[in-house]
Amino acid sequence: MTILVKISDLDLSGKTVLIREDYNVPIKDGLVSSDTRIRATLPTLMQVLEAGAKIILVSHLGRPVAGEYDEAYSLAPVAKCLSDFLGIEVPLIKDWTDGIDMTNHRVVLCENVRFEKGETKNDDALARKMAQLCQVYINDAFATAHRAQASTHGVAKYAAVSAAGPLLINELKALTKALREPESPVIAIVGGAKVSSKLTILESLSEKVDQLIVGGGIVNTFLKSAGYEIGKSLYEPDLVDVASKLMQEAEKNGCQIPLPIDVVCGKEFDESTAAVTKPVSEVEADDMIMDVGPETSQQLNDIITKAKTIVWNGPLGVFEFDQFSQGTKNLADAIANSNAYSIAGGGDTIAAISKFNVEDKISYISTGGGAFLEFLEGKKLPAIEILEEAARAWEAMERAREL
Ligand code: AMP
Repeated sequence: MTILVKISDLDLSGKTVLIREDYNVPIKDGLVSSDTRIRATLPTLMQVLEAGAKIILVSHLGRPVAGEYDEAYSLAPVAKCLSDFLGIEVPLIKDWTDGIDMTNHRVVLCENVRFEKGETKNDDALARKMAQLCQVYINDAFATAHRAQASTHGVAKYAAVSAAGPLLINELKALTKALREPESPVIAIVGGAKVSSKLTILESLSEKVDQLIVGGGIVNTFLKSAGYEIGKSLYEPDLVDVASKLMQEAEKNGCQIPLPIDVVCGKEFDESTAAVTKPVSEVEADDMIMDVGPETSQQLNDIITKAKTIVWNGPLGVFEFDQFSQGTKNLADAIANSNAYSIAGGGDTIAAISKFNVEDKISYISTGGGAFLEFLEGKKLPAIEILEEAARAWEAMERAREL
């Protein structure tokens, strides 16, 4: 496990702490429509308040244009939600980068950090300003850890002390448990639309796991490379050779990539198109493969039952259309019923988990999409790296103080 400074390592009494949280929540009609992410941060906030500190909260919401205020991306609904949860007024501070008067406040929320020019560019001047607002910086937002931005990376270079929050630490612990010392057999399921967006993850997982199940649009490219007719299905012609090489390499590493036995096809990419189940060898020239069939689900179920560790990212079909959602539902149920340590992450995967009501039966659901995938690939996440550097500097300082 990486060495990071934790909140409990610090004396926060009388200090002002800037916490980077992930309040990128869905907003509908000016109200927060799912407050899960906000509620998840409350223990962090309570721990810091109980340690006697004041809190400046920083987060992004959506992708506004930098340098332009846009009410649609305002964090005002989040400030209201936080005030209700904490039982104290949490004001939203619109102009905050040049200083915040904390005299009458215990917690304030800064307006969307992506309104600031320089945030996404990891601008040094903005990062320094953020660092000057506080005595301690805490990053508690795993889902943005793969981005080097002013509020996730630059600020940690300049803050007097930079630490990791409990949400971020829990996420790292859970992912490390699943990936660094996993109990075998390890099964990974990678679904979703395109091979190209998940190529590096497919390559790195095929070296690490016992079985790699590919699904969704991704499997079509693999079927094509194995010589099957795939009709009008979504696939990537440029990556057919890559898929076949991946299968060969995986086999050399002792990893199997099973292909579907049966599939569910439609004639159009449409919510009302009729779904027809057929053996994979009977796909016609005008078919689109949009889900796996029941025999394939049974085969996957058998594999999953024997697994000790399961990693899941991406749906097995167009699960947004009910007639093509059964394969992903069967997979979600199989994972939910297994005794393995299961870990899942990514926007569509979380949507599928929630659609099929299996949230409570997955051992760990990562909040990260991009961050989750990059961690799976074994990449160093920039926001974590900078916290590790800060931890080394902090340790050296503490040791010097002891002498
Ligand atoms: P990703 O963002 O790469 O995880 O892709 C998720 C999207 O892939 C979902 O919106 C699915 O509808 C889509 N998808 C899954 N299977 C297929 C398929 N066979 N053909 C087209 N799109 C698919």
